[in-house]
Amino acid sequence: MLQYRAMPHRAIQNDLLHRLPQKALSLLRALGKLADEVGVSLYLVGGVVRDLLLIKENGDLDLTVEGDGVAFARLVADRYRAGLAVFERFATARLTFPNGLKMDIATTRRESYAQPAVLPTVQWASIEEDLSRRDFTINAIAVQLNPGQFGLLLDPYGGQRDLRARRIRLLHAGSFQDDPTRIFRAIRFEQRFGFRLDRATLRLLAQAASTNLIQRLSGPRLQNEILLLFAERDPVRAIARLGQLKLLRFLHHRLSNTKPVKQMVTAVPKALAWWARQFQGSVIDRPIVYLMALSSESSAAVVATMIRRLALSREQAKKVSTGGRVVDHALKRLTDTGTVRRSQIFRLLADLSDEALVLLLAKQVSRQQGARLSVLKRLLMAYMKNRAVKTVLTGRDLQAMGLKPGPQYKTILGKLLDARLDRIVTTQAEERALARKLIDNTASPFVKRETSASGNERRFTSVKGAAAN
Ligand code: ATP
Repeated sequence: MLQYRAMPHRAIQNDLLHRLPQKALSLLRALGKLADEVGVSLYLVGGVVRDLLLIKENGDLDLTVEGDGVAFARLVADRYRAGLAVFERFATARLTFPNGLKMDIATTRRESYAQPAVLPTVQWASIEEDLSRRDFTINAIAVQLNPGQFGLLLDPYGGQRDLRARRIRLLHAGSFQDDPTRIFRAIRFEQRFGFRLDRATLRLLAQAASTNLIQRLSGPRLQNEILLLFAERDPVRAIARLGQLKLLRFLHHRLSNTKPVKQMVTAVPKALAWWARQFQGSVIDRPIVYLMALSSESSAAVVATMIRRLALSREQAKKVSTGGRVVDHALKRLTDTGTVRRSQIFRLLADLSDEALVLLLAKQVSRQQGARLSVLKRLLMAYMKNRAVKTVLTGRDLQAMGLKPGPQYKTILGKLLDARLDRIVTTQAEERALARKLIDNTASPFVKRETSASGNERRFTSVKGAAAN
Protein backbone atom coordinates (compact mmCIF):
# COMPACT_ATOMS: atom_id res chain seq x y z
CA MET A 1 0.00 0.00 0.00
CA LEU A 2 0.96 3.61 -0.15
CA GLN A 3 2.91 4.20 3.01
CA TYR A 4 5.16 7.14 3.67
CA ARG A 5 7.04 8.34 6.62
CA ALA A 6 5.93 11.97 6.62
CA MET A 7 9.46 12.88 7.59
CA PRO A 8 10.25 16.21 6.01
CA HIS A 9 13.23 16.04 3.78
CA ARG A 10 14.75 19.51 3.93
CA ALA A 11 18.00 20.69 2.44
CA ILE A 12 19.32 23.86 0.87
CA GLN A 13 19.91 23.24 -2.83
CA ASN A 14 22.07 26.12 -3.87
CA ASP A 15 22.17 25.53 -7.57
CA LEU A 16 18.55 24.52 -8.21
CA LEU A 17 17.01 27.99 -8.51
CA HIS A 18 19.99 29.10 -10.60
CA ARG A 19 18.64 26.88 -13.37
CA LEU A 20 15.87 29.47 -13.83
CA PRO A 21 16.29 32.22 -16.41
CA GLN A 22 18.04 35.25 -14.86
CA LYS A 23 14.93 37.43 -15.14
CA ALA A 24 12.83 34.98 -13.13
CA LEU A 25 15.60 34.31 -10.60
CA SER A 26 16.06 37.99 -9.70
CA LEU A 27 12.32 38.48 -9.39
CA LEU A 28 12.02 35.49 -7.04
CA ARG A 29 14.86 36.83 -4.89
CA ALA A 30 13.13 40.19 -4.64
CA LEU A 31 9.79 38.58 -3.77
CA GLY A 32 11.51 36.51 -1.08
CA LYS A 33 12.74 39.76 0.51
CA LEU A 34 9.27 41.26 0.26
CA ALA A 35 7.85 38.14 1.97
CA ASP A 36 10.31 38.67 4.86
CA GLU A 37 9.23 42.34 5.12
CA VAL A 38 5.60 41.33 5.62
CA GLY A 39 6.43 38.27 7.75
CA VAL A 40 5.21 35.40 5.54
CA SER A 41 6.96 32.33 4.16
CA LEU A 42 7.10 32.12 0.37
CA TYR A 43 7.69 29.01 -1.77
CA LEU A 44 8.08 28.02 -5.37
CA VAL A 45 6.07 24.85 -5.71
CA GLY A 46 4.68 22.06 -7.92
CA GLY A 47 5.44 21.45 -11.59
CA VAL A 48 8.10 24.14 -11.91
CA VAL A 49 10.16 22.60 -9.08
CA ARG A 50 9.74 19.13 -10.61
CA ASP A 51 10.97 20.48 -13.95
CA LEU A 52 13.91 22.32 -12.36
CA LEU A 53 14.97 19.00 -10.85
CA LEU A 54 14.54 17.30 -14.23
CA ILE A 55 16.39 20.18 -15.91
CA LYS A 56 13.43 20.83 -18.19
CA GLU A 57 12.06 24.21 -19.14
CA ASN A 58 8.82 25.32 -17.53
CA GLY A 59 7.45 28.82 -18.00
CA ASP A 60 4.90 28.57 -15.15
CA LEU A 61 6.02 30.22 -11.95
CA ASP A 62 3.75 28.82 -9.22
CA LEU A 63 4.28 30.39 -5.83
CA THR A 64 2.53 29.72 -2.58
CA VAL A 65 2.41 31.80 0.58
CA GLU A 66 2.06 30.48 4.10
CA GLY A 67 -0.40 33.21 5.01
CA ASP A 68 -2.69 35.32 2.86
CA GLY A 69 -1.57 34.65 -0.71
CA VAL A 70 -4.03 37.05 -2.29
CA ALA A 71 -2.98 39.93 -0.01
CA PHE A 72 0.66 39.19 -0.87
CA ALA A 73 -0.18 39.11 -4.59
CA ARG A 74 -1.85 42.53 -4.28
CA LEU A 75 1.27 43.90 -2.65
CA VAL A 76 3.47 42.48 -5.42
CA ALA A 77 1.14 43.85 -8.10
CA ASP A 78 1.35 47.29 -6.49
CA ARG A 79 5.10 47.27 -6.08
CA TYR A 80 5.88 45.95 -9.58
CA ARG A 81 2.96 47.47 -11.51
CA ALA A 82 1.92 43.98 -12.50
CA GLY A 83 -1.51 43.07 -13.87
CA LEU A 84 -3.58 41.18 -11.28
CA ALA A 85 -6.48 38.72 -11.54
CA VAL A 86 -7.83 37.31 -8.27
CA PHE A 87 -9.74 34.03 -7.93
CA GLU A 88 -11.26 34.44 -4.46
CA ARG A 89 -12.81 30.97 -4.34
CA PHE A 90 -9.41 29.29 -4.63
CA ALA A 91 -7.48 31.99 -2.72
CA THR A 92 -5.19 32.42 -5.72
CA ALA A 93 -4.10 35.28 -7.96
CA ARG A 94 -2.39 35.58 -11.33
CA LEU A 95 0.17 38.30 -11.95
CA THR A 96 1.47 39.55 -15.27
CA PHE A 97 4.64 41.61 -14.97
CA PRO A 98 5.54 44.47 -17.34
CA ASN A 99 8.48 42.37 -18.68
CA GLY A 100 6.01 39.63 -19.70
CA LEU A 101 6.65 37.20 -16.82
CA LYS A 102 3.55 35.49 -15.50
CA MET A 103 3.12 34.07 -12.03
CA ASP A 104 0.42 32.36 -9.96
CA ILE A 105 0.38 33.06 -6.26
CA ALA A 106 -1.68 30.78 -4.00
CA THR A 107 -2.28 30.39 -0.31
CA THR A 108 -0.99 27.22 1.33
CA ARG A 109 -4.11 25.23 1.99
CA ARG A 110 -5.78 22.02 2.93
CA GLU A 111 -8.62 20.69 0.81
CA SER A 112 -11.56 18.58 1.83
CA TYR A 113 -13.89 16.77 -0.51
CA ALA A 114 -17.56 16.80 0.53
CA GLN A 115 -18.21 14.23 -2.22
CA PRO A 116 -15.90 12.36 -4.58
CA ALA A 117 -15.15 14.03 -7.92
CA VAL A 118 -16.47 17.49 -7.04
CA LEU A 119 -14.32 20.56 -6.40
CA PRO A 120 -12.98 20.69 -2.84
CA THR A 121 -13.55 23.20 -0.05
CA VAL A 122 -10.42 25.04 0.91
CA GLN A 123 -8.90 26.08 4.27
CA TRP A 124 -5.60 27.76 5.07
CA ALA A 125 -2.89 25.38 6.26
CA SER A 126 0.89 24.90 6.58
CA ILE A 127 3.20 24.25 3.59
CA GLU A 128 3.50 20.59 4.67
CA GLU A 129 -0.28 20.19 4.58
CA ASP A 130 -0.40 22.02 1.29
CA LEU A 131 2.08 19.55 -0.20
CA SER A 132 0.09 16.62 1.19
CA ARG A 133 -3.04 17.56 -0.86
CA ARG A 134 -1.14 17.38 -4.14
CA ASP A 135 -1.48 14.70 -6.77
CA PHE A 136 1.86 12.90 -7.04
CA THR A 137 5.07 12.85 -5.04
CA ILE A 138 6.98 14.41 -7.94
CA ASN A 139 4.58 17.39 -7.85
CA ALA A 140 4.73 17.76 -4.06
CA ILE A 141 8.10 19.47 -3.68
CA ALA A 142 8.58 23.11 -2.67
CA VAL A 143 11.56 25.48 -2.55
CA GLN A 144 11.56 28.34 -0.07
CA LEU A 145 12.36 31.85 -1.32
CA ASN A 146 12.78 33.93 1.89
CA PRO A 147 16.39 35.20 2.05
CA GLY A 148 17.51 33.16 5.10
CA GLN A 149 16.22 29.93 3.52
CA PHE A 150 16.60 30.77 -0.15
CA GLY A 151 16.80 27.44 -1.98
CA LEU A 152 15.60 25.30 0.96
CA LEU A 153 13.97 22.27 -0.63
CA LEU A 154 10.98 20.61 1.08
CA ASP A 155 10.30 17.11 -0.15
CA PRO A 156 8.30 15.28 2.54
CA TYR A 157 6.98 12.51 0.24
CA GLY A 158 10.11 11.38 -1.54
CA GLY A 159 9.46 13.22 -4.80
CA GLN A 160 13.16 13.38 -5.68
CA ARG A 161 13.53 9.66 -5.08
CA ASP A 162 10.61 9.01 -7.44
CA LEU A 163 12.03 11.36 -10.05
CA ARG A 164 15.24 9.36 -9.97
CA ALA A 165 13.29 6.09 -10.16
CA ARG A 166 11.15 7.57 -12.99
CA ARG A 167 7.98 6.77 -11.07
CA ILE A 168 4.54 8.38 -10.76
CA ARG A 169 3.26 7.76 -7.29
CA LEU A 170 0.13 8.94 -5.47
CA LEU A 171 0.35 10.46 -2.03
CA HIS A 172 -2.55 8.53 -0.53
CA ALA A 173 -4.87 5.69 -1.45
CA GLY A 174 -8.05 7.83 -1.61
CA SER A 175 -6.52 10.29 -4.05
CA PHE A 176 -8.27 9.14 -7.26
CA GLN A 177 -11.56 8.99 -5.35
CA ASP A 178 -11.15 12.58 -4.21
CA ASP A 179 -10.26 13.81 -7.66
CA PRO A 180 -10.51 11.48 -10.67
CA THR A 181 -8.85 14.09 -12.93
CA ARG A 182 -5.66 12.73 -11.34
CA ILE A 183 -6.19 9.54 -13.34
CA PHE A 184 -5.63 11.47 -16.54
CA ARG A 185 -2.89 13.58 -15.00
CA ALA A 186 -1.07 10.37 -14.06
CA ILE A 187 -1.12 9.24 -17.69
CA ARG A 188 -0.11 12.71 -18.87
CA PHE A 189 3.05 12.77 -16.71
CA GLU A 190 3.80 9.09 -17.31
CA GLN A 191 3.75 9.60 -21.07
CA ARG A 192 5.43 13.00 -21.07
CA PHE A 193 8.45 11.90 -19.08
CA GLY A 194 8.50 8.26 -20.14
CA PHE A 195 7.97 7.29 -16.47
CA ARG A 196 5.85 4.42 -15.19
CA LEU A 197 3.10 4.29 -12.62
CA ASP A 198 4.26 2.61 -9.44
CA ARG A 199 2.56 -0.66 -8.67
CA ALA A 200 0.17 0.59 -5.97
CA THR A 201 -0.78 3.65 -8.05
CA LEU A 202 -1.47 1.47 -11.08
CA ARG A 203 -3.65 -0.83 -9.02
CA LEU A 204 -5.61 2.10 -7.60
CA LEU A 205 -5.99 3.52 -11.08
CA ALA A 206 -7.33 0.23 -12.45
CA GLN A 207 -9.73 0.02 -9.51
CA ALA A 208 -10.96 3.57 -10.09
CA ALA A 209 -11.32 2.90 -13.84
CA SER A 210 -13.52 -0.11 -13.14
CA THR A 211 -16.07 1.99 -11.22
CA ASN A 212 -18.25 4.86 -12.42
CA LEU A 213 -16.15 7.44 -10.61
CA ILE A 214 -15.01 9.23 -13.76
CA GLN A 215 -18.62 9.51 -14.89
CA ARG A 216 -19.15 11.88 -12.01
CA LEU A 217 -16.65 14.37 -13.42
CA SER A 218 -18.30 17.36 -15.03
CA GLY A 219 -18.04 17.71 -18.83
CA PRO A 220 -15.67 20.70 -18.75
CA ARG A 221 -13.30 18.99 -16.29
CA LEU A 222 -13.17 15.79 -18.34
CA GLN A 223 -12.73 17.78 -21.53
CA ASN A 224 -9.88 19.74 -20.01
CA GLU A 225 -8.02 16.58 -19.06
CA ILE A 226 -8.57 14.85 -22.40
CA LEU A 227 -7.53 17.85 -24.46
CA LEU A 228 -4.47 18.46 -22.27
CA LEU A 229 -3.48 14.84 -22.80
CA PHE A 230 -3.95 15.19 -26.55
CA ALA A 231 -1.89 18.39 -26.51
CA GLU A 232 1.15 16.49 -25.26
CA ARG A 233 4.05 15.78 -27.60
CA ASP A 234 3.04 12.18 -28.30
CA PRO A 235 -0.76 11.78 -28.09
CA VAL A 236 -0.57 8.50 -30.03
CA ARG A 237 1.00 6.76 -27.06
CA ALA A 238 -1.32 8.54 -24.65
CA ILE A 239 -4.36 7.30 -26.59
CA ALA A 240 -2.94 3.77 -26.66
CA ARG A 241 -2.48 3.98 -22.89
CA LEU A 242 -6.06 5.22 -22.41
CA GLY A 243 -7.22 2.24 -24.44
CA GLN A 244 -5.05 -0.19 -22.50
CA LEU A 245 -6.32 1.12 -19.16
CA LYS A 246 -9.94 0.94 -20.41
CA LEU A 247 -10.47 4.66 -20.02
CA LEU A 248 -11.78 5.49 -23.48
CA ARG A 249 -15.19 4.22 -22.44
CA PHE A 250 -15.60 7.38 -20.34
CA LEU A 251 -15.77 9.42 -23.53
CA HIS A 252 -18.33 6.99 -24.90
CA HIS A 253 -18.94 3.39 -23.89
CA ARG A 254 -18.66 2.28 -27.55
CA LEU A 255 -15.34 4.01 -28.12
CA SER A 256 -12.26 1.81 -28.20
CA ASN A 257 -8.87 1.69 -29.77
CA THR A 258 -9.69 -0.78 -32.55
CA LYS A 259 -7.22 -1.52 -35.34
CA PRO A 260 -8.69 1.01 -37.83
CA VAL A 261 -8.82 3.67 -35.09
CA LYS A 262 -5.23 2.91 -34.17
CA GLN A 263 -4.15 3.20 -37.81
CA MET A 264 -5.93 6.52 -38.13
CA VAL A 265 -4.52 7.94 -34.88
CA THR A 266 -1.03 6.75 -35.78
CA ALA A 267 -1.23 8.53 -39.13
CA VAL A 268 -2.12 11.90 -37.57
CA PRO A 269 1.42 13.06 -36.61
CA LYS A 270 2.63 12.56 -40.19
CA ALA A 271 -0.36 14.44 -41.59
CA LEU A 272 0.10 17.25 -39.08
CA ALA A 273 3.80 17.57 -39.83
CA TRP A 274 3.21 17.76 -43.60
CA TRP A 275 0.40 20.29 -43.10
CA ALA A 276 2.53 22.50 -40.83
CA ARG A 277 5.36 22.49 -43.40
CA GLN A 278 3.09 23.40 -46.30
CA PHE A 279 0.63 25.85 -44.77
CA GLN A 280 2.36 27.84 -42.11
CA GLY A 281 -0.51 30.30 -41.74
CA SER A 282 -3.03 27.62 -40.85
CA VAL A 283 -3.50 27.23 -37.10
CA ILE A 284 -4.61 23.70 -36.29
CA ASP A 285 -6.35 22.66 -33.09
CA ARG A 286 -4.19 19.56 -32.70
CA PRO A 287 -5.98 17.98 -29.72
CA ILE A 288 -9.23 18.21 -31.68
CA VAL A 289 -7.64 16.42 -34.65
CA TYR A 290 -6.72 13.53 -32.34
CA LEU A 291 -10.25 13.47 -30.93
CA MET A 292 -11.58 13.40 -34.51
CA ALA A 293 -9.23 10.55 -35.39
CA LEU A 294 -10.21 8.64 -32.27
CA SER A 295 -13.91 8.90 -33.14
CA SER A 296 -13.49 8.64 -36.92
CA GLU A 297 -14.85 5.09 -37.07
CA SER A 298 -17.82 5.80 -34.79
CA SER A 299 -21.40 6.46 -35.84
CA ALA A 300 -22.81 9.99 -35.88
CA ALA A 301 -24.90 9.15 -32.81
CA VAL A 302 -21.85 8.02 -30.82
CA VAL A 303 -19.91 11.14 -31.84
CA ALA A 304 -22.82 13.39 -30.86
CA THR A 305 -23.05 11.78 -27.41
CA MET A 306 -19.30 12.07 -26.92
CA ILE A 307 -19.45 15.76 -27.87
CA ARG A 308 -22.16 16.35 -25.26
CA ARG A 309 -20.26 14.38 -22.60
CA LEU A 310 -17.15 16.47 -23.17
CA ALA A 311 -19.16 19.70 -23.28
CA LEU A 312 -17.18 20.77 -26.34
CA SER A 313 -17.54 24.36 -27.51
CA ARG A 314 -19.76 24.99 -30.50
CA GLU A 315 -16.72 25.42 -32.75
CA GLN A 316 -15.03 22.24 -31.52
CA ALA A 317 -18.30 20.32 -31.76
CA LYS A 318 -18.75 21.40 -35.36
CA LYS A 319 -15.28 20.21 -36.26
CA VAL A 320 -15.59 16.88 -34.48
CA SER A 321 -19.06 16.13 -35.85
CA THR A 322 -17.97 16.69 -39.46
CA GLY A 323 -14.92 14.50 -38.88
CA GLY A 324 -15.52 10.88 -39.87
CA ARG A 325 -18.27 10.48 -42.47
CA VAL A 326 -17.83 13.78 -44.30
CA VAL A 327 -14.12 13.21 -44.61
CA ASP A 328 -14.70 9.67 -45.88
CA HIS A 329 -17.13 10.98 -48.47
CA ALA A 330 -14.76 13.73 -49.69
CA LEU A 331 -11.83 11.31 -49.87
CA LYS A 332 -13.91 8.77 -51.77
CA ARG A 333 -14.99 11.40 -54.29
CA LEU A 334 -11.42 12.60 -54.72
CA THR A 335 -10.15 9.08 -55.18
CA ASP A 336 -13.01 7.71 -57.31
CA THR A 337 -13.60 10.35 -59.97
CA GLY A 338 -11.78 10.12 -63.29
CA THR A 339 -10.74 13.75 -63.48
CA VAL A 340 -11.35 16.49 -60.97
CA ARG A 341 -11.88 20.14 -61.81
CA ARG A 342 -10.58 22.76 -59.41
CA SER A 343 -14.16 23.86 -58.83
CA GLN A 344 -15.15 20.31 -57.90
CA ILE A 345 -12.32 20.09 -55.40
CA PHE A 346 -13.44 23.42 -54.00
CA ARG A 347 -17.04 22.23 -53.59
CA LEU A 348 -15.90 19.01 -51.93
CA LEU A 349 -13.57 20.66 -49.46
CA ALA A 350 -14.95 24.16 -48.87
CA ASP A 351 -17.12 23.12 -45.91
CA LEU A 352 -14.34 21.20 -44.20
CA SER A 353 -12.36 22.77 -41.37
CA ASP A 354 -8.58 22.69 -41.65
CA GLU A 355 -8.64 20.03 -38.93
CA ALA A 356 -10.90 17.88 -41.15
CA LEU A 357 -8.49 18.36 -44.06
CA VAL A 358 -5.65 17.10 -41.86
CA LEU A 359 -7.82 14.12 -40.96
CA LEU A 360 -8.53 13.47 -44.64
CA LEU A 361 -4.82 13.43 -45.29
CA ALA A 362 -4.25 11.18 -42.26
CA LYS A 363 -6.82 8.76 -43.64
CA GLN A 364 -4.90 8.52 -46.89
CA VAL A 365 -1.59 8.22 -45.00
CA SER A 366 -3.07 5.32 -43.04
CA ARG A 367 -3.88 3.51 -46.31
CA GLN A 368 -0.20 3.38 -47.19
CA GLN A 369 -0.67 3.99 -50.89
CA GLY A 370 2.26 6.23 -51.79
CA ALA A 371 1.21 7.32 -55.27
CA ARG A 372 -2.31 8.22 -54.24
CA LEU A 373 -1.00 10.09 -51.25
CA SER A 374 1.23 12.25 -53.45
CA VAL A 375 -1.70 13.14 -55.66
CA LEU A 376 -3.90 13.95 -52.69
CA LYS A 377 -1.17 16.25 -51.38
CA ARG A 378 -1.10 18.01 -54.76
CA LEU A 379 -4.88 18.40 -54.70
CA LEU A 380 -4.75 19.84 -51.20
CA MET A 381 -1.98 22.26 -52.17
CA ALA A 382 -3.99 23.44 -55.16
CA TYR A 383 -7.09 23.77 -53.03
CA MET A 384 -5.33 25.77 -50.31
CA LYS A 385 -3.87 28.08 -52.95
CA ASN A 386 -7.23 28.60 -54.60
CA ARG A 387 -9.57 28.76 -51.70
CA ALA A 388 -9.07 32.49 -51.31
CA VAL A 389 -10.16 33.02 -54.94
CA LYS A 390 -13.25 35.19 -55.19
CA THR A 391 -15.43 36.45 -57.97
CA VAL A 392 -14.89 40.08 -58.91
CA LEU A 393 -18.61 40.64 -59.34
CA THR A 394 -20.90 40.73 -56.32
CA GLY A 395 -24.65 40.50 -55.87
CA ARG A 396 -24.81 44.26 -56.26
CA ASP A 397 -23.27 43.98 -59.74
CA LEU A 398 -25.80 41.32 -60.71
CA GLN A 399 -28.57 43.63 -59.50
CA ALA A 400 -27.14 46.48 -61.58
CA MET A 401 -27.16 44.10 -64.55
CA GLY A 402 -30.90 43.70 -64.08
CA LEU A 403 -31.18 40.37 -62.23
CA LYS A 404 -34.37 40.17 -60.16
CA PRO A 405 -33.98 39.25 -56.44
CA GLY A 406 -34.17 35.49 -55.86
CA PRO A 407 -32.21 32.28 -55.36
CA GLN A 408 -30.52 32.62 -58.76
CA TYR A 409 -28.05 35.11 -57.19
CA LYS A 410 -26.44 32.28 -55.28
CA THR A 411 -26.50 29.98 -58.30
CA ILE A 412 -24.98 32.53 -60.66
CA LEU A 413 -22.30 33.69 -58.20
CA GLY A 414 -21.48 30.01 -57.63
CA LYS A 415 -21.09 29.43 -61.35
CA LEU A 416 -18.94 32.54 -61.70
CA LEU A 417 -16.70 31.25 -58.93
CA ASP A 418 -16.47 27.82 -60.58
CA ALA A 419 -15.49 29.49 -63.85
CA ARG A 420 -12.80 31.51 -62.07
CA LEU A 421 -11.45 28.46 -60.28
CA ASP A 422 -11.38 26.46 -63.50
CA ARG A 423 -9.77 29.43 -65.31
CA ILE A 424 -12.63 29.61 -67.79
CA VAL A 425 -12.71 33.29 -66.94
CA THR A 426 -9.63 35.16 -65.81
CA THR A 427 -10.51 38.83 -66.25
CA GLN A 428 -13.28 41.06 -65.00
CA ALA A 429 -14.57 41.52 -68.56
CA GLU A 430 -14.79 37.76 -69.10
CA GLU A 431 -16.57 37.33 -65.80
CA ARG A 432 -19.04 40.05 -66.69
CA ALA A 433 -19.68 38.48 -70.08
CA LEU A 434 -20.35 35.11 -68.45
CA ALA A 435 -22.65 36.74 -65.89
CA ARG A 436 -24.56 38.39 -68.73
CA LYS A 437 -25.01 35.05 -70.45
CA LEU A 438 -26.16 33.37 -67.23
CA ILE A 439 -28.60 36.17 -66.42
CA ASP A 440 -30.08 35.97 -69.88
CA ASN A 441 -30.41 32.21 -69.47
CA THR A 442 -32.34 32.56 -66.21
CA ALA A 443 -35.36 33.37 -68.35
CA SER A 444 -35.39 29.62 -69.15
CA PRO A 445 -36.34 27.15 -66.39
CA PHE A 446 -32.74 26.41 -65.54
CA VAL A 447 -29.36 27.86 -66.23
CA LYS A 448 -27.36 25.75 -68.61
CA ARG A 449 -24.01 24.65 -67.29
CA GLU A 450 -21.04 26.43 -68.84
CA THR A 451 -18.74 24.22 -70.79
CA SER A 452 -15.08 24.82 -71.31
CA ALA A 453 -15.69 26.61 -74.59
CA SER A 454 -12.69 28.82 -74.02
CA GLY A 455 -10.53 25.72 -73.99
CA ASN A 456 -8.42 26.88 -71.04
CA GLU A 457 -10.19 24.81 -68.38
CA ARG A 458 -7.63 23.00 -66.27
CA ARG A 459 -8.35 19.53 -64.98
CA PHE A 460 -6.59 17.59 -62.34
CA THR A 461 -6.08 13.91 -62.58
CA SER A 462 -7.77 12.29 -59.66
CA VAL A 463 -5.98 10.24 -57.05
CA LYS A 464 -7.30 7.06 -58.61
CA GLY A 465 -6.37 8.16 -62.10
CA ALA A 466 -2.83 8.95 -61.04
CA ALA A 467 -2.45 5.76 -59.15
CA ALA A 468 -3.55 3.85 -62.20
CA ASN A 469 -1.00 5.66 -64.36
P1 ATP B 1 2.22 21.03 -16.37
O1 ATP B 1 3.69 20.98 -16.64
O2 ATP B 1 1.42 20.10 -17.22
O3 ATP B 1 1.65 22.41 -16.25
P2 ATP B 1 1.99 20.98 -13.51
O4 ATP B 1 2.43 19.95 -12.52
O5 ATP B 1 2.62 22.31 -13.44
O6 ATP B 1 2.12 20.34 -14.93
P3 ATP B 1 -0.55 22.21 -13.07
O7 ATP B 1 -1.88 21.72 -13.52
O8 ATP B 1 -0.06 23.52 -13.55
O9 ATP B 1 0.43 21.04 -13.38
O10 ATP B 1 -0.57 22.20 -11.49
C1 ATP B 1 0.45 22.77 -10.69
C2 ATP B 1 0.59 21.95 -9.43
O11 ATP B 1 -0.64 21.94 -8.70
C3 ATP B 1 0.92 20.49 -9.67
O12 ATP B 1 2.31 20.30 -9.84
C4 ATP B 1 0.38 19.84 -8.41
O13 ATP B 1 1.26 20.02 -7.32
C5 ATP B 1 -0.86 20.65 -8.14
N1 ATP B 1 -2.06 20.08 -8.76
C6 ATP B 1 -2.60 20.39 -9.94
N2 ATP B 1 -3.71 19.68 -10.19
C7 ATP B 1 -3.88 18.88 -9.14
C8 ATP B 1 -4.86 17.92 -8.78
N3 ATP B 1 -5.86 17.62 -9.58
N4 ATP B 1 -4.74 17.32 -7.58
C9 ATP B 1 -3.72 17.62 -6.75
N5 ATP B 1 -2.78 18.51 -7.02
C10 ATP B 1 -2.84 19.15 -8.20
